[in-house]
Amino acid sequence: LSRRVPQPPGEDEIAQLARTANATLDRLEQAVGRQRQFASDASHELRTPITGLRANLEDAAMHPEDSDLREVVRSALRDTDRLESIVTDLLLLARIGTGGTAMQEPIDLSALAAAEVRRRVSTLRVVTELPAGVTVRGVRMQLVRLLGNLLDNAERYAGSAVTVQVAREDGHALLAVTDDGAGIAPADRERVFERFTRLDTARSRGAGGTGLGLAIAREIARAHGGTLRVEDHAPGARFALRLPLVPPPAREKGRPRPDG
Ligand code: ADP
Repeated sequence: LSRRVPQPPGEDEIAQLARTANATLDRLEQAVGRQRQFASDASHELRTPITGLRANLEDAAMHPEDSDLREVVRSALRDTDRLESIVTDLLLLARIGTGGTAMQEPIDLSALAAAEVRRRVSTLRVVTELPAGVTVRGVRMQLVRLLGNLLDNAERYAGSAVTVQVAREDGHALLAVTDDGAGIAPADRERVFERFTRLDTARSRGAGGTGLGLAIAREIARAHGGTLRVEDHAPGARFALRLPLVPPPAREKGRPRPDG
């Protein structure tokens, strides 16, 4: 969004068009900025009372004189946990892409995926295809979070198995998480990336998600110059992340480069 159309000299139609395009981009950028600021402010404002509420409830739960009170307090504590997750996720959503490129580093996608799969104790059978040397530039913490959200969902909505694949594809790095669950109907494949969307409310809420996981995942993909989509796959769902590849050093390339 921060790129502008080059402004040609003079006052002809092209010059006017360029000026209008750039003014529109300015307004858009300001709107995006205000939106981020709102989410960030809202999260900060919500955090303080939640922290107070939690402290009080924990205190009350430690002194349970009657069992009805105890149940009420427990339920309020669960609500507090939930509020806290939502606020934390909103805050993360507001911050993605605001740090510039300073936090970026070269990342071996297969190594990152292998570590994340290993770190999790999963009830699922996880199959991996993780070739070496697929490198991207990115913020490690964010890419771990993106993959973590996809794996959380696979765990929530899959049948029994999930496949994690890394590959080079058409000059891009590909990271795909495929499960064998109920899948996502074509009509819902864009909607699932919207904030707070849940297709199967009972199941999703019961599973403890915030409905922000895929919105966060897509925002991280975008901030890295990539895309995250649901692709055709049956049975089950397949989420494909594509990121720009960091090219290997020239001498490792298959074809000799023309001189000059
Ligand atoms: P949640 O916290 O509810 O999981 P997400 O943003 O991660 O929120 O996902 C949004 C919705 O997309 C989920 O509630 C679920 O209905 C659907 N969904 C996500 N991943 C899958 C999947 N692997 N299989 C089927 N449905 C999915």
